[in-house]
Amino acid sequence: MKDRVVTNIILISLLTLVLIVGVYIVYRNIKREVEIAQIKSDFVSNVSHELRTPLSLISMFAETLEMGRAKTEEKKYEYYSIISREANRLGRIVNTILNFSKMEAGKRKYHIEEKDLNIVIEKIFENYSFHLRNKGFEFIYNPAENLPTVNIDEEAVSEAVINLIDNAVKYSPDKKQIEINTGIDSTYEFVEVADKGIGISHEDQRKIFDKFFRVSSALVHDTKGTGLGLSIVKHVMDAHGGRVVLKSKQGVGSSFQLLFPVKSG
Ligand code: ADP
Repeated sequence: MKDRVVTNIILISLLTLVLIVGVYIVYRNIKREVEIAQIKSDFVSNVSHELRTPLSLISMFAETLEMGRAKTEEKKYEYYSIISREANRLGRIVNTILNFSKMEAGKRKYHIEEKDLNIVIEKIFENYSFHLRNKGFEFIYNPAENLPTVNIDEEAVSEAVINLIDNAVKYSPDKKQIEINTGIDSTYEFVEVADKGIGISHEDQRKIFDKFFRVSSALVHDTKGTGLGLSIVKHVMDAHGGRVVLKSKQGVGSSFQLLFPVKSG
């Protein structure tokens, strides 16, 4: 009799445990599903928003020109340059999404060639200097001396660095200073993009390289973005056998280093 009671108690406890574990697993799965649904809907609305702004600017200024409302040559030039700038922006957003989907499908091909990292970065710096200075940024480039060449896909690495510069601009509302440095330590050659912007909390630093992730602060919410930029940066660095090192402090700034393995021999 006593034995049976003990066995029953053990059985009931086991059943209760199984039930609790089961309920927990169901709860976790449902929570995950809800999160994924939320991420998807945020992504669609972010992308639509990203596409809508340049599209409406292009059509507005094209219409103004078409109707002959731009009186002076100066005004015409201004409108043409807005149209071309916004068309470039549209192109970049579409490229980001296409590249991302290629990466996800494992279909992105890399064309690795021997390159001088300083020259690759110099080109980006020259292309972006005017634009950034116009936006009120102090933009500095410090190339390291005597950098050995690295094996990289120039287009992919440039895209990664441009993503970092874009972020530095977007998330530096007050102190507008961006610095790019190249350098080398014993096993890695690096390019670093550093800003004095809002910074990233310790908790979010682990998540920002995840696809679609965006920090949910007021400024980030008001800033346009797809949440894909850093996941592309990480993917590109993985494909180069390199890595990304992030140092950031909220309210102080962030620095992203892209580290490429130095060629042996
Ligand atoms: P997004 O399109 O939102 O910029 P990213 O993948 O490039 O997507 O970045 C993910 C998130 O990481 C951003 O939404 C932002 O919250 C944060 N972040 C990225 N770069 C910076 C930076 N330089 N300073 C502060 N926060 C940043």
